[in-house]
Amino acid sequence: MANLLHNLSFQKLFDIAADAMLLVDSSGHIVEANFAALQLLEYSEATICGLTVEALIPERFRGHHHQYRNGFFQNPEKRSMGDGRDLFALSSSGKELAVDIGLSPIKIQDQTYILITFYAADKRRETEQALRVSNERLELAKQAANLGVFDVDPQNLALHYDERILELWGKKPGETINYDEFIGVINPEDRVASAVEFNRCFDPAGDGKYYAEYRIKNPHDGVERWVSSVGEMHFKDGKAVRFVGVARDITKQKLTEKILQEQRIETESFYKQQIASHTASAIAHELNQPLAAISAYSEVALHELSHVNNHPEILIRALEGCVSQAQRAGTSLHELIAFLQVGELITERFDLNETVLDALNTTKGDGLIGLQPILQLDRNIPLVLGNKIQIQKVLVNLLRNAIEATNEKGQADSAIAVSVKIYTDKNMAHVSVEDRGHGISQELAERIFEPFFTTKSKGIGMGLLISRALIKANGGQLWLEQNASDGATFHFTLPFIPNHA
Ligand code: ADP
Repeated sequence: MANLLHNLSFQKLFDIAADAMLLVDSSGHIVEANFAALQLLEYSEATICGLTVEALIPERFRGHHHQYRNGFFQNPEKRSMGDGRDLFALSSSGKELAVDIGLSPIKIQDQTYILITFYAADKRRETEQALRVSNERLELAKQAANLGVFDVDPQNLALHYDERILELWGKKPGETINYDEFIGVINPEDRVASAVEFNRCFDPAGDGKYYAEYRIKNPHDGVERWVSSVGEMHFKDGKAVRFVGVARDITKQKLTEKILQEQRIETESFYKQQIASHTASAIAHELNQPLAAISAYSEVALHELSHVNNHPEILIRALEGCVSQAQRAGTSLHELIAFLQVGELITERFDLNETVLDALNTTKGDGLIGLQPILQLDRNIPLVLGNKIQIQKVLVNLLRNAIEATNEKGQADSAIAVSVKIYTDKNMAHVSVEDRGHGISQELAERIFEPFFTTKSKGIGMGLLISRALIKANGGQLWLEQNASDGATFHFTLPFIPNHA
């Protein structure tokens, strides 16, 4: 190799170099320019040689240049020019070219020259600028979302973090935090679950995704905060190499959820009491009739038995009457109890679209045929917080009513429209069930939410009352809208999970 280069002259290297190069003497005059320099600066060899380098510097930077040049010759050493400032070269047509400049002293026949190399800086500056903008954006997004970022090397558990993480973990800017401290601040009750979740991420066959909510106690002020942490393990050749994630303070959200839950329990127990008292009086009302009938039948039976020559067929009919009335009372009580069993209010985050689809399936599974729903589901709707089973129960009840009203009308077109969207006024989820059935008159509309109000021969008349109570217990509202033409539309709203952003 050394032999090869031995035959390569400086002149040759200078001419073929891809970067633009100038050779300048100690008085600042250009003595040589290579082909790339002539192209870049738009000069011919004849016009550039003899010029001082200052001719290639935009006028506003020219002032002190000869001093820099003299300084370089007093202490000639290889370096880049400009100390990180943006540099420009002036072409013969007056164009300013963004360049990086390298300076190398070179001795030729006892004379010191400077070899000036120009590197086009546009691309580098563009990339740097794009990186800066993207970093700024990321920083703004982090601030807006109140996010702290951590980056863990899974092999040695070395931890990198930003200032927000330090702040959350009770450290001052500039202080350090190691992995053990990071874990040590987590509430011991939550530590195991978050560690199990973290260990799960190491499995190359898994999705590497991490999600945990835990409490951390600030070691300085002792204040406990809730943190939600989302991360992802990165793998290389089946080996975990990097774990990056963000942590967010969700204390406020947790507090709101708790208050909401307490309010729900309170409202629910209030409605339960209301329903219980309505139910008690209604059960009495409901049982009155069969009991009166049973008593009448029993009197007939007794009367018949008091005669020596009684009529067995009258006796049989009276006793059969007793049995069927007792059965009727039993059946309506069972139906009532089954419907009233709303269960405990356990809330969860769920997708209303899915619950609508589940409710439709249940209704179809119940044998209610003729349901051809028109679905208008907002696929991007945020999750709601509530008791999924209860909401499904409400939907099934509304759908059943809609189907029955449509069937009763003898309507061939039994299309029912179910929509799920955002109720913009209140920032809540909004569900509506619209039918083309017999509709509800103004007079009936005032009574349909009353307990045991029904216009159906086999109805119980508790569905709408309970549905309304359930929606209210889940933080929303349920109401009727009479359609301008045929049918009726029932609407209800539900709250999104707090701070769903
Ligand atoms: P039930 O279905 O057992 O009668 P509900 O409380 O669910 O009890 O309904 C009460 C009454 O409201 C029904 O009997 C019916 O008269 C009326 N209703 C409910 N939904 C509709 C509807 N979509 N179209 C017409 N009438 C309805």
